[in-house]
Amino acid sequence: MSELTVKEWVKQVVKPDEIDKYLIDGKDFINEQAINTTLAKNQKPEKQRIRDIIQKSLCIERLDPEETAALLHVEDPDLWEKMFAAGLEVKRKVYDNRIVFFAPLYCSNLCVNNCAYCGFRYENKDEKRRILTMDEVRQETEAVISEGHKRMIVVFGEHPRSDADYIARTIETIYNVKMPARNGMGEIRRVNINAAPMSVADLKKLWNVGIGTYQVFQETYHKTKYARIHPSNTLKGNYRWRLYALHRAMEAGIDDVATGALFGLYDWRFEVMGLLHHAIDLERQFGIGPHTISFPRMTPASGSALSISSNYLVSDADFKKLVTVLRLSVPYTGLIITARENAPLKKEVIQVGCTQTDASTKIGIGGYTEALKELSHLERQNQEIDKQQFILGDTRRLDDVVLELAEMGMITSFCTAGYRCGRTGDKIMGLLKSCTEGKFCKLNAVLTFREYLDDYASPETKAIGEKLIEQEISQIREIPFFSKGSLLETFDKMYRDTLNGKRDVYI
Ligand code: SAM
Ligand code: SF4
Repeated sequence: MSELTVKEWVKQVVKPDEIDKYLIDGKDFINEQAINTTLAKNQKPEKQRIRDIIQKSLCIERLDPEETAALLHVEDPDLWEKMFAAGLEVKRKVYDNRIVFFAPLYCSNLCVNNCAYCGFRYENKDEKRRILTMDEVRQETEAVISEGHKRMIVVFGEHPRSDADYIARTIETIYNVKMPARNGMGEIRRVNINAAPMSVADLKKLWNVGIGTYQVFQETYHKTKYARIHPSNTLKGNYRWRLYALHRAMEAGIDDVATGALFGLYDWRFEVMGLLHHAIDLERQFGIGPHTISFPRMTPASGSALSISSNYLVSDADFKKLVTVLRLSVPYTGLIITARENAPLKKEVIQVGCTQTDASTKIGIGGYTEALKELSHLERQNQEIDKQQFILGDTRRLDDVVLELAEMGMITSFCTAGYRCGRTGDKIMGLLKSCTEGKFCKLNAVLTFREYLDDYASPETKAIGEKLIEQEISQIREIPFFSKGSLLETFDKMYRDTLNGKRDVYI
């Protein structure tokens, strides 16, 4: 594609009327002055007030900005311990002891933007550019399936060659890949997308091919900072086009949407408030908040001075606090901790209420297929430097992480049933808020964990996983919700079928 054509494409992406329609009195939902005032007003919260706020959260009620601001300013270590414990309890009420796994798939590092923190930005001449063909997408997917994954999040730079049509073809290609497992065929059952903001018409294309969740991170909610790191002559320089990306997705019919902020760009307390206001505005305009919230921390990226020198880099201790406050503030929302973080920190943060994580992650373009090839150490190092967007903190394989979690009493769920049974958007939010979705998921988690143990697990993981499944099944038998109707009977049959090699059965 010629330079001019790229420029022409860029010019027609933003549709101003698809921003303006969501503004209220011409204003967006981030009022910086109001956020700063709320933060300042709540700098010294009373201990009893904090205890009351924790109680509200334990009743699975979303917090108000004043309450979140108060939590963000707690200094007493004992109160923090209470908040960490409450975070896990909220998670258990809504999502039980399950962790959902996914694998990211980076399809293209071509990008028309110039974000100061990202190795893919167009000015980074050290980056070798590559976009996967559909054959390569197929090969990458095969490698991911072979690890035992059932969910992917597919990531794209913003470029006419990776436009909505390319993304839609990628989704279709991934859904069509089947790979032999020990029993039957493995497959990806849910394809989520992390891509640039799009128009409603483009988002409908993704909806039509069965997108799972559409994820866009605002990066920073602070407008001045945003402008400084996203040049105004680039597409990403348009703050509001990005701020309303998820609103447009909802309008296009994609009701599982996911937000996030890139922590390290600006003050972490401000970003938590921004994320909360984002959730509130989605609730106000569509009746449901985000399906998940992510909190990637900025990691060193090739050629990015900002990624190592920012004044706002977040310490491990503050990171754990911000995840806890998000957990308590938006109790019904899934929280994603990624392999950007190292294994010990991931483990710690999972215990304050995260619900999803990745493993066996490769973030180089074509990284899964290349990992299978015999490469010299030097060749591999060069490739990683060339094509990785940033450096990963946790490179363990899926089986290792599943084992670690099973030892902690957490069951890995590969369940993708909610989305395929229409339990998405407002339906799933209602179920989550009433802690009912967790019950269906408990059954489906056991069924999919059984599949994993039989099809992919190492002997060690299988041994520990079996014990966990036994515990889960005896708990299930004790819960009246299951035993009252015919649910238990249905589950028992499905479990037997799964043991006998039947695949993809769900409630
Ligand atoms: N191009 C799309 C966009 O910007 O929305 C999607 C792909 S982009 C590679 C996905 C996310 O990577 C960004 O939203 C950003 O938060 C994150 N990211 C970029 N640079 C990073 C870094 N140095 N460390 C950690 N995360 C980073
Ligand atoms: Fe491109 Fe996204 Fe990286 Fe920005 S964050 S340079 S838009 S890939």
